[in-house]
Amino acid sequence: MDNQCEICQADANAGTICPVCLKHARNTLLWLERIGMPTLQQIAYRQASMGETSPRHGNRAYAATPLDIDARQTYIDAETTLQRLAGQAQTKPYGWQADGTPRTLLAWNRLIPIMAARIERILNPRPREAMQTLADTARHVSERIERPEERRLIGICPQCHATTIPVTDPQTGETRDEPLRTPIYATERQHWAVCPYCAAFLDLAKVRASYLKPIDSLHITRKRAGAARWLSDASGRRVTGKMLDNWRQAGRLHPRRVDGQYWEWSIRELLACVR
Ligand SMILES: [Zn+2]
Ligand SMILES: [Zn+2]
Repeated sequence: MDNQCEICQADANAGTICPVCLKHARNTLLWLERIGMPTLQQIAYRQASMGETSPRHGNRAYAATPLDIDARQTYIDAETTLQRLAGQAQTKPYGWQADGTPRTLLAWNRLIPIMAARIERILNPRPREAMQTLADTARHVSERIERPEERRLIGICPQCHATTIPVTDPQTGETRDEPLRTPIYATERQHWAVCPYCAAFLDLAKVRASYLKPIDSLHITRKRAGAARWLSDASGRRVTGKMLDNWRQAGRLHPRRVDGQYWEWSIRELLACVR
């Protein structure tokens, strides 16, 4: 049975993936490009940085907007997952993850059209796994951008977070222990909540406060111009590469060179510069 689609087992005329599955994979990518990632970026960065800026500007309307760390992490994870998928197909520029697996260094908005155009290469050599990875990524992004309006993500349950569970990386097959992250949703006026997972009774003031810390560990990998564009998109202000240079000289940015012209930028530092 040479002529069966590797993903859905339907009869395929030529190649190993049928046209329906190819189209589905392409559409998933295009949804991420046009709706998923831009919306998530707005939620994760622009709205949050407006919230951080507003008290100084006397704009109370945005003052209560919480930093949406989980949306930021989802955004970064989605981009990294796409970069790893494309990295397996040796999409240039080519680099490596810390764990030794290949990864392209292109930003998602430049990467996705390339992936869509080469979808067959991207899905091989393990079409089912690659398809699952794409579907999971789209689902994670859509869950973040379609959450209920008035209840917002305000943190994670500290009691759950104190316990770890073994998590298997779908790409490397490695298993490691990671803290359990149960998202807690609440309205702005709510003071107490019960964790839906472990049923702990939570003081939301503490949940909110402890949630602001992990942003220190968030980084993006970009060229200088790419970082400037990223910060423009995230803040709604025009940022140039020259401005990044000035902030670096002033000691406000400390990017770390990754490969060639690529640098790793701290998201906290970038956002602090436009505040
Ligand atoms: Zn198929
Ligand atoms: Zn819990």
